[in-house]
Amino acid sequence: MDQPPLTEPAVPDSGTARYELPILPAASAGGMGSEDCVVVVRNLGEFHHWLRQATPAVQWIQVEGLLDQPEAWIDAARAPNDVALDVVMSDPLVEYPMLYRLVDVHNARGLRVTIPLRTGFLKALRLAAALHLPVRLLPQQPDEEELGELMEAIHFYLHDPMVDTPVEFFHSALGWSTGGSITDLWLALERDPAVFQQLDDAGKPLLPADRPGATAETFVSDHIEQLRRDRSECATCSWSAFCRGYFKLPDPGYSCGGIVKALDLLGAAATEIATEIGDFAPQPEDEMPN
Ligand code: SF4
Repeated sequence: MDQPPLTEPAVPDSGTARYELPILPAASAGGMGSEDCVVVVRNLGEFHHWLRQATPAVQWIQVEGLLDQPEAWIDAARAPNDVALDVVMSDPLVEYPMLYRLVDVHNARGLRVTIPLRTGFLKALRLAAALHLPVRLLPQQPDEEELGELMEAIHFYLHDPMVDTPVEFFHSALGWSTGGSITDLWLALERDPAVFQQLDDAGKPLLPADRPGATAETFVSDHIEQLRRDRSECATCSWSAFCRGYFKLPDPGYSCGGIVKALDLLGAAATEIATEIGDFAPQPEDEMPN
């Protein structure tokens, strides 16, 4: 049930060679040649350029801070290149009415909206779902108000018939709970630096940041192991195999009570779904005689 990365780069199975998909600013993307990458654009000039110049190696363009520029989206709906877009919102409460601008673009090319889990994100999620736009919700360490909205968002995702496109990370948490082939939350959110390596403007990987001896390959496993050794609440958390300490960054002292409640709500829904599927599975007595 997992939502694949936007255009499905060749993410290896665990145990094979590591694969890093660089996610790099447009200014440094020109030298990538035929290497797979994701290009981050932050102004109209960069967006216009990469909409036309993206080679097949560009897996998608990450568009930041341009929702308020209508001409960007008129161009994106018409440009001849069909490279996919990940439109990253910065303030969902302010920007959500602008999602209408993406409808024609979505008809022309692959598109996903990335919504930071900040106050007001539910308005953006509801509108994106109404417009049939796939969504990646990007949480960090939500406060009380954001957690309240998160619970509402999960109920909306689970029960509103309007939702017919994937919403990460809900989709992967459900899939993991029903024994799907999901690996973990870091991969579902494209945050595992062993696979998705985000580079800053100077070309330096954002993770692992300033951790002596840390490598991108083992960053997530080292992180959760350290949390378990430190006897943090991850050591006994029933979601640790899926979450792997995601919510303990940047503040390892963040209390996960609200997050665990939200994940449990998804887990309970997954159990219900599995039971319903089991109830409808053919029973031995239902089988046709030979
Ligand atoms: S939900 Fe919180 S306590 Fe549980 S594994 Fe994730 S970070 Fe650790």
